Amino acid sequence: MGSATGFLDTVRIENPFRDEAARLGDFEDLHTCQSCEARRAQASRCMNCGVPFCQSDFGCPLHNLIPEWNDLLYRGQEREALMRLIRTAPFPEFTGHVCPALCEKACNLENDATTNRDNELYLIETGFEKGWIQPRIPAVRSGKRVAVIGSGPSGLAAADLLNQLGHSVTVIERADRPGGLLMYGIPNMKLPKNIVERRIRLMEAEGITFELNTEADPEKLQDYDAVLLCGGARKPRSLNVEHMDAEGVMFAVDYLTAATRAVLGGTVSEASAAGKHVIVVGGGDTGNDCVGTALRQECVSVTQLEMMPAPPEDRTPGNPWPEWPRILRTDYGQLEAIYRQGSDPRVYRTTVKQILTDDQNRICGLETVQLERTPEGRFEQVAGTEKTLPCELLLIAAGFVGCDEKTAEHFALQADGRGRLLPENGSHHLAGKIFSAGDMRNGQSLVVRALADGRNAAKEINDWMRS
Ligand SMILES: Cc1cc2nc3c(=O)[nH]c(=O)nc-3n(C[C@H](O)[C@H](O)[C@H](O)COP(=O)(O)OP(=O)(O)OC[C@H]3O[C@@H](n4cnc5c(N)ncnc54)[C@H](O)[C@@H]3O)c2cc1C
Repeated sequence: MGSATGFLDTVRIENPFRDEAARLGDFEDLHTCQSCEARRAQASRCMNCGVPFCQSDFGCPLHNLIPEWNDLLYRGQEREALMRLIRTAPFPEFTGHVCPALCEKACNLENDATTNRDNELYLIETGFEKGWIQPRIPAVRSGKRVAVIGSGPSGLAAADLLNQLGHSVTVIERADRPGGLLMYGIPNMKLPKNIVERRIRLMEAEGITFELNTEADPEKLQDYDAVLLCGGARKPRSLNVEHMDAEGVMFAVDYLTAATRAVLGGTVSEASAAGKHVIVVGGGDTGNDCVGTALRQECVSVTQLEMMPAPPEDRTPGNPWPEWPRILRTDYGQLEAIYRQGSDPRVYRTTVKQILTDDQNRICGLETVQLERTPEGRFEQVAGTEKTLPCELLLIAAGFVGCDEKTAEHFALQADGRGRLLPENGSHHLAGKIFSAGDMRNGQSLVVRALADGRNAAKEINDWMRS
């Protein structure tokens, strides 16, 4: 273990956010990094517990060897620590930025957990800086060809492992840039896009081919030995109200994609929130990203509607450690809204009753209503609680209902009741030479789960092709 008394001698310090005044003026990385000494001190807090819940199923889905690389980092063996980390973690620079760190929530130190996510980011960035991360070109090729459809984290993780196992991999992506939601979805301030591009260049140098602006077509995939579908779960949940087609009503990922395109192109977003009252439907992480983006685009105001009541401040008896704590969190976008507007943008137990439009079918306001839950668990509108709010941009971040049906149809596949291409036996193998992974298989989830699932699918395809 690191230092026997590390967790008593050193307090937990996370990489701090840049202060609101500075970060609201640009789309640059939210976080600042700490020095090497500070990082080693943080790593010394890891206790190498007899049962490391951090790397168990409660913690990291990649089963990262967390106590081992924290110990190496604490001892100053940074290169060895990094090599131990990348045995299981394909892209620590992604998880180091965006992972909610299930491992930290499962840490025995609980609220005082070791800063695994920041430590991992430090290790990988040091590796790139010192030239320890170099293309790993497989010495022997198997002669097998695999097509991976979709270049989100699951597709990239599968492509990476299949390539390392000696197979020739082509990633087919319909968008103009690779990365899936890492590129177009998660905003630049949370995951700078040069970090995604750096990894893609490395994968290309390792022999992986990317075909962009290309829709997967089964007819053109006949020469491949296996096809892995990693198309994500991007079908948004809509609202059951009139005027969803009004100008100024958008789904969150479309809005966030336009915002990232503008950042990358140095232009103004075609769906900018500038000068508008913005309302975001959905109190989750996607909604929070919309809040942070709208504030950077200089909206007049931003409000976030959430149909559920506010979560509790602390764990409830039904949600004990080491489970993920279902408690109130105030994320970067909400903190920024509090800074800019003076109050939390979230309004709980509230939904949209009516979208108000002008004579050119542009949204100009919103009627909201409070909700209450019946004893049977249904939500009902509370008469007399209606409010009218100004709104020129309505962003729907109410979750996702599964994968894109077009891809399923092309491959003559049928999604299950939750919009997933999940084989009945729980494997990744759907039919013939077709496999699935990531959100397309499991429903909308997390980057780290998509990475783990992509790697598991790659192992299964490798066994299948070699059997
Ligand atoms: C706004 C937002 C913010 C998020 N923030 C976080 C976060 O901070 N932390 C976290 O852990 N998770 C976050 N998530 C969840 C996370 O991004 C996803 O769980 C993860 O990206 C899923 O990876 P994937 O590879 O399965 O699919 P995706 O990332 O969705 O990638 C699928 C790719 O497949 C391509 N594709 C689909 N069909 C075809 C086809 N027929 N032909 C060619 N290409 C096709 C798509 O264009 C896309 O590029 C966020 C999600 C959203 C929406």
